[in-house]
Amino acid sequence: MSAVPAPRDLIVNPTGEAVAYSDDPRDVGWVVKNIPCQSACPAATNIPAYIRAIAEGRHGDAYEINRQANVLPGVLGRICSRQCEKACRHGWPGNGEPVAICNLKRSASDLKNSGHRITEELFAPTGKRIAIVGAGPAGVAAAHDLSVLGHDVTLFERESQPGGMLRYGIPAFRLPRDILEIELHNALRLGVELRVGEGVGKNTSFPVARLLRDYDAVLMSAGCMAPLPLPLNGEWKNRDPADTCPDVEHGLPFLMALHRDEKKTVRRRVAVVGAGFSALDCARVAARLGAQEVVIHIRTAEEYIPVTKEEIFEAKREGIRIRGLRTPVGIELDADGRLTGVRFVQNRLGGWREGGRRLAIPIPGSEFFEPCDTLLIAIGQKTVNDFLDVPVELDRWQNVRIGENGMTSVRGLFAAGDYVTGPTTVIEAIGRGRQGAAQIDAWLMGETRRRRLVRIESVAEPLRERAFDFIGRQEMPTAVPNERLRSRTLEVDLGLPAQPCQEESKRCYLCNLKYQIDVDRCIYCRACIEVAPRACIKLVESVDIEADGSCGKLREAKEWNKVGAIWIDNNECIRCGACFKVCPVKCISITRNEFVEVDQP
Ligand SMILES: Cc1cc2nc3c(=O)[nH]c(=O)nc-3n(C[C@H](O)[C@H](O)[C@H](O)COP(=O)(O)OP(=O)(O)OC[C@H]3O[C@@H](n4cnc5c(N)ncnc54)[C@H](O)[C@@H]3O)c2cc1C
Ligand code: SF4
Ligand code: SF4
Ligand code: SF4
Repeated sequence: MSAVPAPRDLIVNPTGEAVAYSDDPRDVGWVVKNIPCQSACPAATNIPAYIRAIAEGRHGDAYEINRQANVLPGVLGRICSRQCEKACRHGWPGNGEPVAICNLKRSASDLKNSGHRITEELFAPTGKRIAIVGAGPAGVAAAHDLSVLGHDVTLFERESQPGGMLRYGIPAFRLPRDILEIELHNALRLGVELRVGEGVGKNTSFPVARLLRDYDAVLMSAGCMAPLPLPLNGEWKNRDPADTCPDVEHGLPFLMALHRDEKKTVRRRVAVVGAGFSALDCARVAARLGAQEVVIHIRTAEEYIPVTKEEIFEAKREGIRIRGLRTPVGIELDADGRLTGVRFVQNRLGGWREGGRRLAIPIPGSEFFEPCDTLLIAIGQKTVNDFLDVPVELDRWQNVRIGENGMTSVRGLFAAGDYVTGPTTVIEAIGRGRQGAAQIDAWLMGETRRRRLVRIESVAEPLRERAFDFIGRQEMPTAVPNERLRSRTLEVDLGLPAQPCQEESKRCYLCNLKYQIDVDRCIYCRACIEVAPRACIKLVESVDIEADGSCGKLREAKEWNKVGAIWIDNNECIRCGACFKVCPVKCISITRNEFVEVDQP
């Protein structure tokens, strides 16, 4: 007997659609394992669904599908760290380059029509009051979701405008402020009370203890606001040169001041130390402030730094140089206390670190000097907790510790975003902000009011063609480097126009489509195997489906008399539709399997 399951009987509803909703772990597991981009996205964006909408020219729908997972699609379409693209099946060996998922997200936002209306299904008012501290992406996402769920939300922000690092970290040439403004406004428009210029904690009008008294729940999403000091040797050991030398600054306060419209200058030769988004941004800003030479110094090698390769490429086009395998050990000042350069030690690559990075090991006796006139230190950030006026349990990294329900050690005090995890990315902060909102809702209401199910829907015909596999990845058009450097706000990425956007969308394999053969109806004519573009259809003795939906041991049949079933390997399948079209007895079915959030009755 074969263990291959028969395709599921779908219920035909009154509108004629054949659909089923399932919380069976095998269906949930199938979606998790077979849609790698969505599983890699910290906000679980339904990527194949929005890419399909783009292919059909429905940009507004694509925008809405995105917005269900993250409230800022136009923002994310520009600056997302793109974990999904690293996981995309199209980028697997032999399949070419990943789909330009993020550029498509941006295009959906750019190309939706100007009268596009946002759709939102609101819950009835609950009468519960929630305070959120910090209006970065985590706080904004949580405020949005909690207001949709019917709660009264007040969002406290210390700066004069909301957005967190989207506004005070990321420069406008990567994220235009009008886009940010519109999407923040839309996220907070459902009655969220925004109190800007209002810090929370010790020595303010709003100590946390007061918020805990006045509100039913409090969410801390205060980000990671303290720059890490540069560990140096010799006379600089345990001293921060930014405290004494006017030419040395930490990157985060440098960018924040610039984005508060304070005047910032750099001298002729700028050295940036660090390897993340902040370091790249400091360097690119310095180039726009008129520096003649900008060099980013990194400890490891360029291929291991945690920014997108597009960022590095564009920075280099702006004349910025990246010098790898060096660690600063000291700085040199002249008699007037002005910076003359940095002393480095040369590194060699060591073993692997967590997150796919490589260790950098200093080579003894390899010290050397690099002249520069401005040094920007951007080696990372940590959370600040000294503003807390209630005793909250911290972990060994001094981040607040939260339980499985998202709550800190203080009853009613929740936390989310970089404030809990340490520095991450915008999409991770949004994912965690949304999760925090759901946890607060469950705690306040005593039940889970939204559930995630798998929606399984019959699809009448293949949505892809084999010819789509020959379309190359569409490149993002960008502004001319010389023009960029004359402006601090000219956007670098110009957006994919409609035609290349549609071409790119066709490249997606639509991994949410599940191809299945009904073994009881198959006549084993092998026509599907003959037309298949790859080893995606297999004759097997049997195949077991594990409890989590994954395919267990596959025993391919070498002889005819051993054939127990015919099996489509959805891992290999590129949804070309050839088998479906050729099958003489129409025993191949296609279903669209995707997560949906449904309200509990
Ligand atoms: C320069 C720079 C560039 C970056 N580029 C990218 C990028 O391209 N892509 C990407 O994915 N990620 C990027 N990141 C990382 C990303 O911005 C963060 O991971 C993300 O913003 C974290 O969101 P958050 O809401 O947790 O915190 P934040 O965005 O840091 O927001 C925290 C907010 O809390 C407020 N706050 C703090 N304390 C208080 C208080 N006591 N009372 C009231 N308000 C308070 C702060 O003013 C701030 O507005 C970048 C970060 C930096 C610094
Ligand atoms: S091919 Fe499409 S659905 Fe599949 S992983 Fe890539 S973007 Fe996602
Ligand atoms: S649709 Fe059919 S023929 Fe095409 S890749 Fe998938 S299993 Fe193979
Ligand atoms: S073409 Fe159809 S009938 Fe023939 S082997 Fe394939 S699934 Fe079976």
